[in-house]
Amino acid sequence: MTIVMIDGAYGEGGGQILRTALGLSLVTGTAFCIDNIRAGRAKPGLLRQHLTAVLAATEIAQAEVSGAVLGSRHVTFRPHQVRPGAYTFSVGTAGNTTLVLQTILPALLRATAPSTLTLEGGTHNPYAPPFDFLVQAFLPLLQRLGAKVEATLERPGFYPAGGGKCQVQITPGTTWSPLELRMRGAIQDMQARAVVANLPRHIAERELAVLGRKLSWQGDWLQVESLHASSGPGNIVTLTITSAHVTEVCTGFGERGVAAEAVAQQVVQAARRYLATDVAVGEHLADQLLVPLAVTGGGTFTTLPPSSHTTTNIYVIERFLGHVVTAVPHSKDIWELTVRP
Ligand code: AMP
Repeated sequence: MTIVMIDGAYGEGGGQILRTALGLSLVTGTAFCIDNIRAGRAKPGLLRQHLTAVLAATEIAQAEVSGAVLGSRHVTFRPHQVRPGAYTFSVGTAGNTTLVLQTILPALLRATAPSTLTLEGGTHNPYAPPFDFLVQAFLPLLQRLGAKVEATLERPGFYPAGGGKCQVQITPGTTWSPLELRMRGAIQDMQARAVVANLPRHIAERELAVLGRKLSWQGDWLQVESLHASSGPGNIVTLTITSAHVTEVCTGFGERGVAAEAVAQQVVQAARRYLATDVAVGEHLADQLLVPLAVTGGGTFTTLPPSSHTTTNIYVIERFLGHVVTAVPHSKDIWELTVRP
């Protein structure tokens, strides 16, 4: 029987290699074995978030798995038939829920019936897609491919307290359309939201002041949101740039010991980088689109030069599906990625 061998130390050497391998294993029914899990990270091996992803994939496909324990650097995974349905996956810490979703979503998009997921843990974590990015930037593109995925936030969860909860309804596609996203089109709206949860409002106000100064955004474009429903403190700044054909969400994450001004500066840099060219797809969306495109209708999009998450994802996709992704530079700053279904 075929088994795909994956080197978890390749390229980015992070959790994404494992998640992509799990996702493609579920879709193709091909077993895989991964070594050196998260070898590129300060704390290698499976953290709770990655373990939850492995266990979620195991549960939806009644898979045979070995190495599914905290700290493990080696996992073997052999899936059976994917069963859509109602599932609850709890990361148990502030570990990220949207990345657990990213793992099992490709298989559930192609399943024979709808699924409802309840995900508990972090919803707005550094180094992961925040819930707002998921809903505003990522999910609308799945709809264009032919699947309907709706997510609702019941309670935000910030690092380190976690305690967030979201629900995701997945209606699989029956026929797929390719995603054609070569141009972002004219910008139609820009919104900046500085969110503080159980923290003083002045933090958000100082962040918006930086955005006002550095990006010349003002008035209705800038909003403060105070939340009290989360378990612990939290702060994020989200810039949503809505263009005719695509929405981009850039996020800065507040952290203890990091000044509000520095958090705002992070997001200013991300937005400037996106706005400096007319690419349709930003850096993070680019790596996250590859697997959904490869297992549904395929497509073409323009983006910034591939990040190491993107090149690493291409490596894992090749291991399961062969050469289905091509990346061609148009200029120093603009690339075009094509994914064959
Ligand atoms: P890894 O570092 O291997 O665990 O993968 C992290 C994933 O989170 C990648 O798919 C990144 O594109 C994604 N990611 C990290 N930061 C952001 C962000 N600010 N917005 C959206 N996605 C993000």
